[in-house]
Amino acid sequence: MSKSAYVHSVETCGTVDGPGIRYILFLKGCPLRCKYCHNPDTWINEDGEEKSVDEIMKEVRRYKSYFQASGGGITVSGGEPTLQADFVGELFKQCREEGIHTCLDTSGYCEIEDVKELLENTDLVLLDIKQIDNIKHRELTGVENIKTLQFAKYLEEQNIPVWIRYVLVPQHTDDTKDIEDLGKYLGTLSNIQRVEVLPYHEMGISKWESMNMDYPLKGITSPSKESVEKAKDILKKHNLEVY
Ligand code: SF4
Repeated sequence: MSKSAYVHSVETCGTVDGPGIRYILFLKGCPLRCKYCHNPDTWINEDGEEKSVDEIMKEVRRYKSYFQASGGGITVSGGEPTLQADFVGELFKQCREEGIHTCLDTSGYCEIEDVKELLENTDLVLLDIKQIDNIKHRELTGVENIKTLQFAKYLEEQNIPVWIRYVLVPQHTDDTKDIEDLGKYLGTLSNIQRVEVLPYHEMGISKWESMNMDYPLKGITSPSKESVEKAKDILKKHNLEVY
């Protein structure tokens, strides 16, 4: 019997989480508690729908022609997908065998030993670095960034291509020095293909409210265009491809 995982939802024709047209599988469970999380309903895994690798593969195969025409494939996201690494590993292995591009969307908050096998069958990692300053990272996400940075280093050692994602949150991640430090750090890694600066937005609020939870970033609005451009310019100085 194939392995199974707790699934939150599926998007069948995604275009922003990796190259081309993608089948995006959102898994349940996350050890972080980001203050701007859009999907706090992914945090706990027990109430997700359990699906097996075989079931997912059956669905994924239907989109093969779209993947081939667009250079797309499968992206597994979350929550934090490495929490269910055995499942993702088996899924990616089968995708690879069938020529489907595999992409892991992660915060990198995991034990390297747990994800080694999974990464052997991963073509691209979308890695969220939430904050390069460890204290501010903990303040924003509830955990330190040490595991994430170790994970980034391991990806470089394994020569796995990475797209970095950085959410620009006013008062939390838009400090010039922090962005400068992030650029310096990323500039030392040889496997970073691009950096995406994602402006914070308030779309998550309604979900927090519907779950009767207090939204921690109330009053903080999206960054200005100028502030986004400034962040991009700082990162570009470190020879990074920035979007
Ligand atoms: S890592 Fe993603 S799913 Fe987890 S809390 Fe942060 S934003 Fe939400």
